[in-house]
Amino acid sequence: MAKVHNYSAGPCILPQEVIKEAAEAVLNFDGLDLSLLEISHRSANFVSVVDEATTLVKELLEVPEGYSVCFIQGGASLGFLMSAYNMIGDNKKSAYINTGTWSDKAIKEAHFVGDVEVIASSKEENFNHIPKGYTIPTDADYLHYTSNNTIFGTQFKEIPNSPIPLVCDMSSDIFSKKIDISKFDLIYAGAQKNMGPAGATLYIVKDEVFKRNRIKIPTMLNIETHVKKESMFNTPPVFSIYVSMLNLRHLKSIGGVEAQQKINEEKAALLYAEIDRNPLFKGVAATEDRSTMNVTFVLTDESKQAKFDEMWKAANISGIKGHRSVGGYRASMYNALPVSSVQVLVDVMKAL
Ligand SMILES: *Cc1c(COP(=O)(O)O)cnc(C)c1O
Repeated sequence: MAKVHNYSAGPCILPQEVIKEAAEAVLNFDGLDLSLLEISHRSANFVSVVDEATTLVKELLEVPEGYSVCFIQGGASLGFLMSAYNMIGDNKKSAYINTGTWSDKAIKEAHFVGDVEVIASSKEENFNHIPKGYTIPTDADYLHYTSNNTIFGTQFKEIPNSPIPLVCDMSSDIFSKKIDISKFDLIYAGAQKNMGPAGATLYIVKDEVFKRNRIKIPTMLNIETHVKKESMFNTPPVFSIYVSMLNLRHLKSIGGVEAQQKINEEKAALLYAEIDRNPLFKGVAATEDRSTMNVTFVLTDESKQAKFDEMWKAANISGIKGHRSVGGYRASMYNALPVSSVQVLVDVMKAL
């Protein structure tokens, strides 16, 4: 069977060698003659997996001293609520930048713990750009934003210069480019966009957060619970953490985040160049805010749709249909998508 060019928006493409290794561990983990899925999460073999995954996150993202890393279940969607619970302080007020569906959902959850000021939004323009020129209120406990808007194809090119603690949902661009962790108090990211299979959510938290005046937080929602127990407060999502670890090992082996960033920039340049060159296509996102991860575009001539759909399917391309709230097409180019797959899509666009 010819290889599928997998543009899935999430769960996303993973390197073939990682998937093979994961499959082997499901049959026989660490030579134990037991499956990864049927051993104790407290066994030495699995504890070392969590340790290695945590260490790789710290290494690859250059996490500074004074920060902790842990894996928690519930997806980024629980992260919306957990980030609010853990960050709200004496002011009982938070600030949010609304750049899409996921920010909108984060804002909804923040209302459970305090007042929310949406300081900037691109909702009126169907989130086709990143708002600029907003003022960050200094009487809010934290500022929350979504670094990459998976559905709309926009991405912050700069970290907001925030005078208050900064929180970020980095689900769909973590490990895709270098970031300065020291600018953040809390980062969370669902595994299944750029780290591994669904199940684990990565949290990177400044230890100072736990020392502030905070509201009473239910045990499972308190990030400190999970940090103190090194992601082992309760049974962790073992498969997700194991495969994420393998994928991070793989990322390290190819040169880490910096090397990956170059590849991602090459892929984005290739596809956006064709969108801009080809009069049959038009990009959805404002040029300066275009995401390197999720490329949204539409046909300028609707009558070509059936032909285009037939052509990319024939080329073994999968997963480029746009999200219902945007329409058109969305090519998600997460880390594991090779440049050669982007070339195949560009060739189809050229041939239309
Ligand atoms: C996919 C996605 C989410 C939701 O993640 P779940 O892990 O499914 O809850 C949240 N934020 C962003 C930016 C996403 O891309």
